[in-house]
Amino acid sequence: MAGKRYLMAPGPTPVPPEVLAAGAQPVLHHRGPDFRAVMLRTLGRLQEVCRTENDVLLFTASGSAAFESAVVNLMSPGERVLAVMAGEFGERWAALARAYGADVHELRYAWGETPRADDVRARLEETGAKVAFVVHSETSTGVVSDVQALAQAAREAGALVVVDAVSSLGAVRLETDAWGLDVVVAGSQKALMTPPGLSVVTVSDSAWGRSQSAALPRFYFDWDRMRASLETGSTPFTPAVTIVAALDVALGLLLEEGLDAAFARHAALGRACREGAKAMGLGLFSPDEERSAIVTAILTPEGIDAREVVLALRDRFGITVAGGHGELGPKLFRIGHIGYYDVFDITTVLAAVEVLLVEGGADIERGVAIARALEAYHETARV
Ligand SMILES: *Cc1c(COP(=O)(O)O)cnc(C)c1O
Repeated sequence: MAGKRYLMAPGPTPVPPEVLAAGAQPVLHHRGPDFRAVMLRTLGRLQEVCRTENDVLLFTASGSAAFESAVVNLMSPGERVLAVMAGEFGERWAALARAYGADVHELRYAWGETPRADDVRARLEETGAKVAFVVHSETSTGVVSDVQALAQAAREAGALVVVDAVSSLGAVRLETDAWGLDVVVAGSQKALMTPPGLSVVTVSDSAWGRSQSAALPRFYFDWDRMRASLETGSTPFTPAVTIVAALDVALGLLLEEGLDAAFARHAALGRACREGAKAMGLGLFSPDEERSAIVTAILTPEGIDAREVVLALRDRFGITVAGGHGELGPKLFRIGHIGYYDVFDITTVLAAVEVLLVEGGADIERGVAIARALEAYHETARV
């Protein structure tokens, strides 16, 4: 059927109608009092969602740019940094820092592995790096790391920790202050249920301290300039005002649901997706664990190219899922379930996958994935 579309990728994600409507209101002037109120409320809500009293900065740019802002505000040329890498995004941050002339040391895992705190501590001690990059939810593999433990190890080794929480913020627990996360980076288009275009950075006192002596050049992404302006509800440059208005409403919805309830919902969505896939006899690439609540990476059976599945889902059923990065392309596809999703989104995509596999000759009892997914959704969390 042409027309009906289902966005089941880990970003951008579906946007609730109220949020779309907020973004469709007339454009406010970014230096006027109406917009100032929206901006200040949005920043306050972001602090709540990030569980922090640190400054929250909002840039008109995608998540990668917010990460770039961390690099240029924290680093000097030739300075050492430890990049923890277990997938596409870990690799991106290493490449980004290298592009700015940082001396990047790697803690590299095979894609799909979960980084370990002891390794972070050991590598920091070995290299003497004073900044560590970690990824909370590695969207390319489905792994959600124990960022609390990783950050603690970094702190004990005397390093600041910069956390990529682009796909995790709002979906799984992240405690900026309680876990001592110096810099947290997020984007509007993932679990925050807002169109792409805005990114978020939280900055701790230690990170501010370090930024004062960081010597890399910066202008648009200069934290000081942004903070000074945001304190008055303004921005140094014209922000994406309609997306800020949308984000404000989306954050309101998330806080109304309650962060704990949202985390429980995401855990249940992840469980439903994994159990449904397994019920069809499919293997998982992402970990089969409660924390893996962002994206489920599913292996296709021998002889079925996952890229074909991704294309068929899109062309025949209007369902967009994500493929695997690089070498994983032929092997797996990824179903995103962050933000504006409920269990019937999961059963929709599983039903479509079942149709394709059965057509391809797989021996699957019809309906088994849906039945199992619905059942798993309501099971209480395994400990
Ligand atoms: C989506 C994503 C990003 C940011 O990507 P942009 O396209 O720059 O917004 C960064 N890290 C992770 C883990 C992501 O999922």
